[in-house]
Amino acid sequence: MSFDGLVDRREESQNGNGTSNGVVRPSYSDRRLRLNPNTNHKPESYEDMKLEFDPTVYSSLERHLPPSMLAVGREAKVQFMKEILARYLPEGERTRVQRHREYREKIMSNYEPLHRELYNIHPTTFFVPSFIKAIGDNTIESFRSIISEPSPGIFTFSMLQPSFCELLLSEVENFEKWVHDTKFRIMRPNTMNKYGAVLDDFGLEAMLDKLMDEFICPMSKAFFGEVGGSSLDSHHGFVVEYGKDRDAELGFHVDDSEVTLNVCLGKQFTGGELFFRGVRCDRHVNSPTQPEEFFEYSHVPGQAVLHRGRHRHGAWATTSGHRINLLLWCRSSVFRELKKYQKEFSTWCGECQREKKERQRQSLAATKLVAKSMQKWNLTSSLNSTKVTPESDQPKAHAYK
Ligand SMILES: [Zn+2]
Repeated sequence: MSFDGLVDRREESQNGNGTSNGVVRPSYSDRRLRLNPNTNHKPESYEDMKLEFDPTVYSSLERHLPPSMLAVGREAKVQFMKEILARYLPEGERTRVQRHREYREKIMSNYEPLHRELYNIHPTTFFVPSFIKAIGDNTIESFRSIISEPSPGIFTFSMLQPSFCELLLSEVENFEKWVHDTKFRIMRPNTMNKYGAVLDDFGLEAMLDKLMDEFICPMSKAFFGEVGGSSLDSHHGFVVEYGKDRDAELGFHVDDSEVTLNVCLGKQFTGGELFFRGVRCDRHVNSPTQPEEFFEYSHVPGQAVLHRGRHRHGAWATTSGHRINLLLWCRSSVFRELKKYQKEFSTWCGECQREKKERQRQSLAATKLVAKSMQKWNLTSSLNSTKVTPESDQPKAHAYK
């Protein structure tokens, strides 16, 4: 059996007016959505249709349709909603999403999972009891009782049961054997790893989504609120492999995530330490590392590392054996949208913080200078030498900045 990877299918014109067979479709571009949803209206189900967005998006949007559209057929409703949604996803991106969906469908309809019990979350067989208890208690104190923070913003804790690590490793091996046997061309997890597999592509997406929602979100809400940790809403889940005949090391980089969960699954190995070099925004991603920002971590199977995606890091070479890690890049669309309107990130970027402190230092120095000259002036121009403007009350000094 052999698959040819991706299908090159040209999409129909999306402007709603013309189709490839020359039939002119009605355009609804002059109609507008209702601001408030019609809560009495029962939307149709779109589960069976091949659409660009999740079917639930269409069901929710249907309640916002103008009254005249509620009585029309499902196809017409979809056409109208497609025109509206098209404004949110450019053509190139739509094609990419569509192709990726086809790619996944092709894998899932042909790949036979080995351990079905992995595809739904079973906390007691997946996680160690201390982790389940801390998440269940859901307080900062309970999280602190199981984690260490060996360097600011880097949290480590025991997470996965050894038996779960083994099952997942065996499932990944089975998937790779299938890829090899069928000569299926798979996409690698990211631009930096030539080995490894995207777990979301072969059926583990729903399980990992639940893992993020129910087990990682509570912690990231507590520790990474300022980088979208409270509003994580999508993920990219994959495994990476290091060692002989695999990737050796991982260069210095930041992740395409707000929060990254990195758990070692095994097996036996030496080397492969993670090194960290401080958190940076886009503008400062290449700025120097401060001495206190250097940190190295040695992987232990079953043990998780949780850090900001913008925490610069890399991995030293795995010098012997074979190392496989599970990665969950957790993202927040809200945070990404808000970030576009911000220029400065001193709540989390080490360099923005340093710049801010430097500005404050300079402004304080300027304030002191002004205060000094005022004092001199007061001494020479008035007998009342005690009336010096106190340092804490110097709004005027800022004008000299
Ligand atoms: Zn910055």
